[in-house]
Amino acid sequence: MPITAVVEKNAYEAAMENFDLAADALELDHNVRNMIKSPERVLTVHLPVRMDNGKIHTFQGHRVQHSTARGPAKGGIRYHPHVTLDEVKALATWMTWKCAVVNIPFGGGKGGVTCNPKEMSQVELEHLTRRYASAILPLIGPAQDIPAPDVYTNSQVMAWIMDTYSMTKGYPIPGVVTGKPIALGGSLGRNEATGRGVFNTLQSACEHLHIPMKGARVVVQGFGNAGSIAAQLLHANEACVIAASDSKGCVYNPKGLDIPALIAYKEKTGGVINFPGSEPITPEQLLAMPCEILVPAALENAVQAENAETLHTKIVAEAANGPLTPEADRILEAEGVFIIPDILCNAGGVTVSYFEWVQDEQHLFWEAQDVYNRLERVMKTSFNDVLKIHLTHKVGMRTAANMLGIGRVAEATTLRGLYP
Ligand code: NAD
Repeated sequence: MPITAVVEKNAYEAAMENFDLAADALELDHNVRNMIKSPERVLTVHLPVRMDNGKIHTFQGHRVQHSTARGPAKGGIRYHPHVTLDEVKALATWMTWKCAVVNIPFGGGKGGVTCNPKEMSQVELEHLTRRYASAILPLIGPAQDIPAPDVYTNSQVMAWIMDTYSMTKGYPIPGVVTGKPIALGGSLGRNEATGRGVFNTLQSACEHLHIPMKGARVVVQGFGNAGSIAAQLLHANEACVIAASDSKGCVYNPKGLDIPALIAYKEKTGGVINFPGSEPITPEQLLAMPCEILVPAALENAVQAENAETLHTKIVAEAANGPLTPEADRILEAEGVFIIPDILCNAGGVTVSYFEWVQDEQHLFWEAQDVYNRLERVMKTSFNDVLKIHLTHKVGMRTAANMLGIGRVAEATTLRGLYP
């Protein structure tokens, strides 16, 4: 099943359903619940861009600030043909709970442009990015809203946004975006932060479940930034990554894929298919592959009610945002699958983005090992905080993570009080 297939619920409906479950479990006050549920600001922009063929194409983009209760809005920018406002609203909502789960002083935001960057030249991408940056300029800034990369955006895109923003001020302002190139004030360790955080939460989960990482079979759906780095660290720690996929296809080797070689191969060829020593499998076979650890690291709704029962894994580590629908959650939880929910599992990216913003604001830069150590501490502390709620309240890990994040946002909102 392609992961962009018709879904039971769109991502925003799923985010709202999960919010209600956690808010009910927290017995959240009705007024606070209404205050923190919906996005604070939603901006839709139309972006005319001159394409290489001389014609002008008008793209649609969005920037959503879901919450600034605990600090500036924080969240990535996605370039993808299927970007919709509801998807951006869902992603912004998850960012709010995610920043609160790892207890960093940010709220939640997200941006997206409906486009296909794979079919655009670098010049077209730069023009689109600068146009988008100037269209959302009133909302962004180091103290207001700080974008970062997401699917199909990268450090170069962040560099263009930083430059466009800085041009309006007359001096460089690196803290307006994170995930920048190191030469422009990026942080060491940011590029691998999400995958590293996924790995750290898996270490904690394996310890909790008494599953040895050594020899554990791992399946990775989406061998991009988050998926490939998680795979690399798991491989380096003697787990056995037996299958991996990207948008073009899936590869399998029951004895384990050579992950550093697969990363090099994907860099060279642009995909994982036909990797020497592997056999091709279908996306359905990949998800159904018996394993100890499944890492969905592509897009939303990869696992839904119709395919949840085909999974044969002990742990799902959600590197992607929203890869399981609420129905899939219920099916997997009933089967005793341990889910490390997205707002915990993939929070390493925003955590090191926070470190990057701190370094930019202080003009003082840290060593890579310092970043890794701080990240590991944050990820393992947050895992334990969520696990404690899971065990004491007897709720699923997703509801536990939402309870932690929503509870912190509710507390901040209550302390700030209502506008008269
Ligand atoms: P990326 O663009 O580097 O990688 C995405 C990968 O998914 C690509 O290899 C792509 O080919 C693959 N893919 C796309 N459609 C697929 C399909 N149908 N089947 C299998 N693979 C498919 O993006 P990324 O930054 O790694 O993000 C992946 C997920 O992780 C997204 O949900 C994103 O929101 C989430 N995430 C990323 C970060 C980060 O810092 N990169 C942080 C938090 C969450």
